[in-house]
Amino acid sequence: MNIAELLGALGVDAAASAGPDLTVRSPIDGGRIAQLREHSAAQANAAIDAAHGAFLAWRQVPAARRGELVRLLGDELRANKQALGRLVSVEAGKILAEGAGEVQEMIDICDFAVGLSRQLYGLTIASERPGHRMMETWHPLGVVGVISAFNFPVAVWSWNTALAIVCGDAVVWKPSEKTPLAALACQALFERALKKFGDAPEGLSQVLIGGREIGQALADHHRVALLSATGSTRMGREVGPRVAARFGRSLLELGGNNAIIVAPSADLDMAARGILFGAVGTAGQRCTSTRRLIVHRSVAGDLLARLEKAYAGARIGNPLDAETLVGPLIDRVAFDGMQAALRQARAEGGKVSGGERRLAGQYPEAWYVAPALVEMPAQTEVVRHETFAPILYVMRYDDFAGALRLQNEVPQGLSSAVFTNDLREAEWFMSASGSDCGIANVNIGTSGAEIGGAFGGEKETGGGRESGSDAWKAYMRRATNTVNYSRELPLAQGIQFGG
Ligand code: NAD
Repeated sequence: MNIAELLGALGVDAAASAGPDLTVRSPIDGGRIAQLREHSAAQANAAIDAAHGAFLAWRQVPAARRGELVRLLGDELRANKQALGRLVSVEAGKILAEGAGEVQEMIDICDFAVGLSRQLYGLTIASERPGHRMMETWHPLGVVGVISAFNFPVAVWSWNTALAIVCGDAVVWKPSEKTPLAALACQALFERALKKFGDAPEGLSQVLIGGREIGQALADHHRVALLSATGSTRMGREVGPRVAARFGRSLLELGGNNAIIVAPSADLDMAARGILFGAVGTAGQRCTSTRRLIVHRSVAGDLLARLEKAYAGARIGNPLDAETLVGPLIDRVAFDGMQAALRQARAEGGKVSGGERRLAGQYPEAWYVAPALVEMPAQTEVVRHETFAPILYVMRYDDFAGALRLQNEVPQGLSSAVFTNDLREAEWFMSASGSDCGIANVNIGTSGAEIGGAFGGEKETGGGRESGSDAWKAYMRRATNTVNYSRELPLAQGIQFGG
């Protein structure tokens, strides 16, 4: 199926979005796959105002009925899993299994949100006053702005949108300018679900095509009650203060620098498999990709030998081929960033294997690389930085406290893991004095989170949580209600005021 057929099957009206502004390329061969019109800042503001109008109506619809719309969206995603997954592969360069896996994640969050639509509950709290009852209620929040990154071009929208819609909010989405077609496809599937649903207000979910100016319009508009922004820490540094300046809410999902600690008792075979998937999967372009390996000196030689073998066997190539494990980098800028990091690593005493360009003859306009394994003498400057490419820095440790220190001594705090069969180490790793990350795993790698848990990280990762657990609370506003059913008017804290 070519790209036009794929878009057609997904219901995208390609002609309606065509225009001169944005050239969309596939990282598979660097070829142009579409030419789109961008929205202006004025159009973005109009879309936000329309979304606010939709919110005012949608918040009155019972939550369980709102859940029905998300159930229908889940049905569309099930029916189009392969096609949408393939589009993700073509536009973002992920292998087919990961493209389809990303759509499965969307289906899972829809299921979760449908259940949630009947469980948006608050607490009742014992009042200190006689004849009083105190409780909290959760109400729809408003317009949710979503800014997303190229590497999860569809799942991030669904994590936000499935929850926002059942919570009674409207959504305005600015996808990455590198993956706008996947966004148009999601919007088309949402519109199919809307048609089946019937009476939803106009403008409930909208997509804006464009670059950072559109993201800034979302950050600055007073009607965007929550801005959920996923991308680099650099982006979060610009967006976070703008939203804060108008006292808006933001949910930031930014860069990671994720480590795996491998202890002497670890199952090295399992560890090697977990590290391989984490470090070279998605060509190292996941926020949760494994970027640092902190291995006990006594098992380092054995583990590295296994990793070298596994790296040599990981097939690099066209992500649409079933045997490929490592697809291309997103673009030349990513390739240059990787090469600069490897040069810096060498200058800081690193021993680099891999990292060179591959398949340049076959794909002169695309950027395939051999994943790099880099043995470092210490956690130097380059190791503390997130390079969005398949580079794994390897450091050795002698005692577990030292390993934990290394793990935590980076600016980012997204995902982390330990491979150990020592109960004390496992519990320590997950304790208050263990990993400081939002995700701390035992005997599984750093990437590939399930939707049921709250997803996000600390420090420069931004502190946001989305997806499962009680992340829905970010998409609602909380009211505390105190009801007096007595015939007196006692004041809190026993205050006497006048007679
Ligand atoms: P990026 O920061 O370049 O772009 C992300 C999005 O932000 C894009 O839509 C872009 O147009 C927009 N943007 C950029 N600057 C902006 C500004 N000043 N104002 C408003 N919007 C702006 O990131 P990328 O290269 O697309 O993605 C890779 C990065 O995203 C990595 O750092 C990765 O770790 C991170 N990421 C984090 C998570 C997470 O959940 N923590 C998930 C995926 C990706």
